[in-house]
Amino acid sequence: MASARKKAAEAMAAIDVVIEVTDARLPEASSNPMIVELRRFRNRPCLKLLNKSDLADPVATSAWMDFYNRQPGVRAVAISAKNAAEVARVPALCRQLAPHRDDGTKPLRMMIMGIPNVGKSTLMNALLKRKVAKVGDEPAVTKHQQTLDLGPGMTLTDTPGMMWPKIDYDADGYMLAASHAIGRNAVIDEEVAAFLGEILIARYLPLLAARYRLEPAMLAGFDGPALVEAVGRRRGCLVKGGGLDLEKAAQILLQDYRDGVLGRISLETPQTRAQMIAAADAA
Ligand code: GDP
Repeated sequence: MASARKKAAEAMAAIDVVIEVTDARLPEASSNPMIVELRRFRNRPCLKLLNKSDLADPVATSAWMDFYNRQPGVRAVAISAKNAAEVARVPALCRQLAPHRDDGTKPLRMMIMGIPNVGKSTLMNALLKRKVAKVGDEPAVTKHQQTLDLGPGMTLTDTPGMMWPKIDYDADGYMLAASHAIGRNAVIDEEVAAFLGEILIARYLPLLAARYRLEPAMLAGFDGPALVEAVGRRRGCLVKGGGLDLEKAAQILLQDYRDGVLGRISLETPQTRAQMIAAADAA
């Protein structure tokens, strides 16, 4: 981590605007506090991209944008890095954040930062309109830092080193694992699916009822593990001997969430995050 910090601090000194990419479904859990700290230290403005907004709950995303747009030096925008028209707005938004670089003599230097798997490579390729960065649904595909010209008077540098998430709360680890931002083996699928299940029952019950054809009244009485069991029964996940294959059931629920087939879901809102922190601090 010390070397990642050093690399990030050096890189930050040589740029004008930070493009921080987070996952719109879990914007705080998928941010790295070192980015805020270094950016404030260097007084660098930030374009905060709530990416994968095509998968996130639009109401939650709008609440997060209000939340971040109140922070000094931050402009928050929801995008999908897979949508060319949305990506095309990014350079102009960065220009607005660094008007002092707009006299035609100095290039505008932008740097993309963020934890693994939030969509940095997808964004970089879309901005450059060619494939320069490897995209993968496995975390940690981006490895070598590079600076490239992005049209006249603009350069783009990718994330310096690996910026791992900082997991201060158990819920952050679960949200990241559910969204596949941390490795598959780091946490047990069944536990992660049960955590996800609790959120889905509390806030997205109609989506669950529709996807797995389960009675809403019955779902309302379930906890996370009971939901995983019900999904397993519905999908015929059985082990030899006839018992339920809960690991398989957990993987189905997680994959459905990751693929967006349950509908547009956010795992945290500014309000649920404040409640989660208050509860964890009180414990
Ligand atoms: P990086 O590790 O931050 O560079 O993330 P990648 O660019 O490799 O993306 C991780 C995964 O998320 C890949 O499977 C991408 O196709 C996917 N992805 C990236 N951006 C979006 C987006 O806006 N919407 C959706 N649905 N998927 C995205």
